[in-house]
Amino acid sequence: MEKIVIGHFYPDLLNLYGDRGNVLALAVRSKLRDIEVEIKNISVGDDLKEGDIDIGFIGGGQDSEQNIMSDDLVKVKGPVIKSMIESGTVFFTVCGGYQMLGKYYKEHDGKVIECLGAIDYYTEGEKERFINDTVYNFDLDEKTSVTCVGFENHSGRTYLGEGVMPFMKVVKGHGNNGKDGTEGVRYKNTFGTYSHGSFLPKNPEVTDLLLELALKRKYGEDYFLKPVDDLGAKEAREAALKYIETGKEQMI
Ligand code: GLN
Repeated sequence: MEKIVIGHFYPDLLNLYGDRGNVLALAVRSKLRDIEVEIKNISVGDDLKEGDIDIGFIGGGQDSEQNIMSDDLVKVKGPVIKSMIESGTVFFTVCGGYQMLGKYYKEHDGKVIECLGAIDYYTEGEKERFINDTVYNFDLDEKTSVTCVGFENHSGRTYLGEGVMPFMKVVKGHGNNGKDGTEGVRYKNTFGTYSHGSFLPKNPEVTDLLLELALKRKYGEDYFLKPVDDLGAKEAREAALKYIETGKEQMI
């Protein structure tokens, strides 16, 4: 029986808008396929060794919470996380957690939070927050593009370095910075997004992509996930899309 170990980083500090639902979606869609799941909570002061986890998740948080975990992330766990990212461990990071993998986050009052610098991007806060239901296009592969829904609430504007790939394109909402139409980052098997609430339960194609990437890395390139029911997730997403377009709630 295959097994997947999910590391939930700083769950006591970074967990806005039910971000933990992303971990539950990964677990539920694994269990539907009889894949054993272990969830490890990893916070300030906890040990981390390369090989401890197959998927890492970091949720969003307020600036004050990002200030609390920054030292532990950068100085203690940093070298191991950077090496995991470089060697292709799957990471899914949301909002504050996404910002923390970049070079720095300058709060809107000018205070700088040191970040990991694992990927080439930086974030600068502005007074006006971007608060929106969001719609994105995600290229699942060369032929398939998926319309994903989410929710954003951030003061940070993130700018990707030259040649760094966004995760998705913005259809509705502000995405990374409200200017260039990019949303999040994709670097090797690490994904970052501004979307909370909870992104993976609403967008099962992305959940399955993360699981398949992690399982291929563990069990070999010829490992494929078997298809399973999406348990109403796609109908829920359709209803959310209609609500976003029309402002009217839909029955599903
Ligand atoms: N504190 C960060 C910002 O406001 C991240 C917020 C969040 O995770 N929602 O940009």
